[in-house]
Amino acid sequence: MSKVNGLPISISGITKCYGNLYALDHIDLEIKQGEFLTLLGPSGSGKTTLLMALAGFTRPDHGSIKFGNEEVVLKAPHQRGVGMMFQNYALFPHMNVAQNIGYPLRLRKINKPEIAERVNQALETVQLTGFGDRRVNQLSGGQRQRVALARAIVFGPRILLMDEPLSALDKNLREKMQIELRHLHEKLGMTTVYVTHDQREALTMSDRIVVINNGKLMQCATPRDLYDYPANKFVAEFIGESAFLKVVHQGDDIYFNGQKLLVEAQPESQQDSLLMIRPERLMVMVDGQNAENANIFNVTVSEIVYQGETKIIYVLLNNGETISMRLSTRSGQPQNNINVGDQIKLVLHKSDTTIVEDGGY
Ligand code: ADP
Repeated sequence: MSKVNGLPISISGITKCYGNLYALDHIDLEIKQGEFLTLLGPSGSGKTTLLMALAGFTRPDHGSIKFGNEEVVLKAPHQRGVGMMFQNYALFPHMNVAQNIGYPLRLRKINKPEIAERVNQALETVQLTGFGDRRVNQLSGGQRQRVALARAIVFGPRILLMDEPLSALDKNLREKMQIELRHLHEKLGMTTVYVTHDQREALTMSDRIVVINNGKLMQCATPRDLYDYPANKFVAEFIGESAFLKVVHQGDDIYFNGQKLLVEAQPESQQDSLLMIRPERLMVMVDGQNAENANIFNVTVSEIVYQGETKIIYVLLNNGETISMRLSTRSGQPQNNINVGDQIKLVLHKSDTTIVEDGGY
């Protein structure tokens, strides 16, 4: 299949209420041409409602949705020209694979020889060449998802919408399909909006991730920026593991438990600030180590949990709070000699510090 020109999507002021509940609360979002953008959030946060508003199955109460320069908010789904692959958007059981994939082309009144050719190209694209005559119930879960994908892309849409398409697959197959979908996206070029509640899936696949909670857009950023610079505590907790230590501001300085911290960047607000600590960013200080540009914490080891390639060491800070660090179990590391009860020093480099605002719930 040949590459298409993905359409940019411009969402402004989109609001959808069910009774008193704001399923979507004034969402503004610019999705770039050809971008792979993921909507990520807990169950009930509004992801599907937003995707359905893009597809045309849900009509927002207010706001505008543009595909390129065209306002589509009042258009019916079939007038929007988007490819769709939904968790519960099942294949037709009475049709074989080729008939399922050809369905959107028949709807568009394309002639038979061209349908046959395009179906074959789509089968090849999803690596199911030769499966056209199979019945749907003769396929594995992964193969069905490939057929659903082929059906979604067979007419060359410039926008592809996907709602948790891999959630029914087991972990290994899901991870394989994530990479495949990503490659396919790069090859075909359509603007893709993908819904998931799985943060690892979002980090693996996306150009940018939108975190949604309670119908509100919390943050839109690249996977790396979202992980390193979450906008608030909700985002930080939702993406990866982290501990949060309450800090106080005195002028331009930031203190934790009476200790002045070296921090990479000042937060925008001085209210309700927390030092976010990712477990893999902490290190054990070794004798003679240069601790310039680093924060040192005196701690007592309270528990060590072995997890194969890494171990988690729980430590007690001077103020009685417990935080964890994730360290490699490779041989020859300083942490290999640590035991429960030991008093050690932890290093947190200035460049690994992030101050986040409490909130986002
Ligand atoms: P998500 O996809 O993030 O799990 P949804 O977009 O499905 O969340 O739902 C957002 C909120 O809107 C939820 O509280 C849900 O219960 C509510 N909701 C969604 N659809 C309807 C509907 N048709 N009627 C009433 N409430 C709805």
